[in-house]
Amino acid sequence: MTAFDADVVIVGGGPVGLVTAIEARLAGLDALVLERHPGVVDKACGEGLMPGALPLLARLGVDPEGMPLRGVSYRSASGAADHRFAGPAGRGVRRTVLHAALRARALAAGARVERMRVTELATDADGVTVGGIRSRWLVGADGLHSTVRRLAGLAGRAGGVHRFGYVRHYALAPWTDLVEVHWSPRVEIYVTPVAPGLVGFAMLGPRRIAFDEALAELPELCARVTGAEHASSLAGAGPLRQRAVAPSRGRVLLVGDASGYVDAITGEGLRLGFAQARAAIASLTGGPAYAPEWRRITRGFRVTASVLVGAAGTPLRRAIVPAARRLPRLYGAIVEQLAR
Ligand SMILES: Cc1cc2nc3c(=O)[nH]c(=O)nc-3n(C[C@H](O)[C@H](O)[C@H](O)COP(=O)(O)OP(=O)(O)OC[C@H]3O[C@@H](n4cnc5c(N)ncnc54)[C@H](O)[C@@H]3O)c2cc1C
Repeated sequence: MTAFDADVVIVGGGPVGLVTAIEARLAGLDALVLERHPGVVDKACGEGLMPGALPLLARLGVDPEGMPLRGVSYRSASGAADHRFAGPAGRGVRRTVLHAALRARALAAGARVERMRVTELATDADGVTVGGIRSRWLVGADGLHSTVRRLAGLAGRAGGVHRFGYVRHYALAPWTDLVEVHWSPRVEIYVTPVAPGLVGFAMLGPRRIAFDEALAELPELCARVTGAEHASSLAGAGPLRQRAVAPSRGRVLLVGDASGYVDAITGEGLRLGFAQARAAIASLTGGPAYAPEWRRITRGFRVTASVLVGAAGTPLRRAIVPAARRLPRLYGAIVEQLAR
């Protein structure tokens, strides 16, 4: 008989890996998280939890502090298009606050978190072994550049444009309860209030665009930050588009960014990752098969994000905010889709 060190090993203790560990514990599985960094982990993120993410967290007993987000405002030199969510608000939550809350809940639920950078993986008929640790199943939650995806033979070729994200925080009193998306000719800057004196600026665009230069092309935002202190150093991530040929193979499942990602343009990564974590663990305990559930969860995101990123890279880019203003019902329907 094979001895297992855990029912499920989760590689990557970011938000989606920790949610997977909590889901596993609630399903009665013994869960071990292997994370390469110690303690609370920060990462470049727009930090907007869409409304649909909050019930997924509340079900797990996680309710992190932050600022209410009541809708989305697309803005450019031509004007602004605002849409307020029809239902409950989302929340801007500093990444470190979210991570600390999830980590504490995972540990309280009985999950183990150990420091390890996973570099190799072996699978056989009844289990998976990483770093000498043996489990029945392995979940790769190790982010955009997933090692598990590669080692499990699940890495695909991501076509299309390569976009990157950069984040900096300013010590500023929030001036809005909307996520503002400022469109310049080259980049989008997402402004998210995350605490009473703290606002995050997340820039999305091509590689090697200097954050301050791009910001200087947006006079409304420049005026806001004049004289404000930087509350974090610049952090980056990318390329954002990543592809897995399938979200699972045998005893290995992928969740979160590791399972494939299009772009942060719709601000949905966390909500999708939490829903994937739930579906992945359910599939191990008698629930529906994971791959069709993964496709169902991500379908709207894959379509909307691909269309928006496609348009953002063409001359149509300049027409996006004016179109959102001229077609408020369509714009509202798209924002409501993100709010689910
Ligand atoms: C600029 C930007 C803005 C964004 N804005 C938003 C937003 O407003 N709202 C939203 O919902 N989403 C947003 N996203 C997306 C969101 O950040 C991601 O979808 C989310 O972080 C995915 O979480 P994850 O746990 O899958 O991956 P990650 O957060 O990347 O966590 C992966 C973890 O795995 C660990 N790891 C990696 N390799 C190994 C290894 N070999 N061994 C052990 N550990 C390993 C890492 O250290 C890390 O802790 C944004 C992304 C970017 C880049």
